[in-house]
Amino acid sequence: MNPLIEQLLVVQDRDQRIKAHQAQDKAVPTERAAMESKRASVKAAFEALREKAKHNEVERRKLEVEAGVKRDSIARYRTQQMQTRKNEEFQALLHEIQGAETEIRAIEDRELDLMEEAEKLGAEVKAGEADMKQANESIARQLKDLDEKAANLTKRLAELVAERGTLAGAVDPDTLSLYERILRSKGDVAIVPLEHEICQGCHMKAPGTTVSLVRAQEELIQCPNCGRVLYRVI
Ligand SMILES: [Zn+2]
Repeated sequence: MNPLIEQLLVVQDRDQRIKAHQAQDKAVPTERAAMESKRASVKAAFEALREKAKHNEVERRKLEVEAGVKRDSIARYRTQQMQTRKNEEFQALLHEIQGAETEIRAIEDRELDLMEEAEKLGAEVKAGEADMKQANESIARQLKDLDEKAANLTKRLAELVAERGTLAGAVDPDTLSLYERILRSKGDVAIVPLEHEICQGCHMKAPGTTVSLVRAQEELIQCPNCGRVLYRVI
C-alpha cells in the first residue's frame, strides 16, 4: 500500500474515533437529565400518593368532629325534652333527634368508606416507598456509571487527540491538508477503498483510468465523482 495512504488511514481512524467519542460525550448531559427526570417523576408520584393518604386522614377527622357535634346536639335535645311540658315541643325535639341520628349514620357510613380507603392507601404508600427506594438506588447507580463513563470518555478523548496530533504531524503537510479538506467537505471519511471498481465513499463506478491509477498505487488518486482519496484493496 502507498505509505501516504497508510499514514492517512491511521489518522482517519483516530479522527473517526474522536468523532465517536465526542458524540458519546455530547449525549452524556441528555442521559443524565433523563435519569434525573425519572427520579423526579418517581418522587412526584409517591408524594401524590402520600398526599392522598393525608387527605383521607384529614377527612376522617373532620367527620369525627362533625359526628361529635351531632351527638352533643342530641344530648342537648334530650335535656330540653326532659325540661319541657309541652307535647308539641317534645315532638319537635324528637324530630330533631331523629334527624341528627340519621345524619350521624350517614357520617359513620362515610367514615367506614374512608377507613377502607385508608387501609388500601396505607398499603400503597408502603409499597410505593419501597419502590421509590429501589428506583432511587438504581438511578443513583446509573448516575455513578454515567459519571464514570463521562470521565473515561474525557480521558480517552484527550489521548486520541494527542495520538492524532502525533500521527498527523508525521504526514506530509500538503497531503494532510488535502485529507482535511476532503474530510471537512464530506463530513464522514476522506480515504475510502475502491472495491470491484466502485468507490466506497459515493458508491459510483470509477472510470477505467482511475481504476488503473489506483491499482498502480504510485500517487494519491481521488474519486472523480466525490473527490475522496481511493486506495486499492488487497
Ligand atoms: Zn467517490
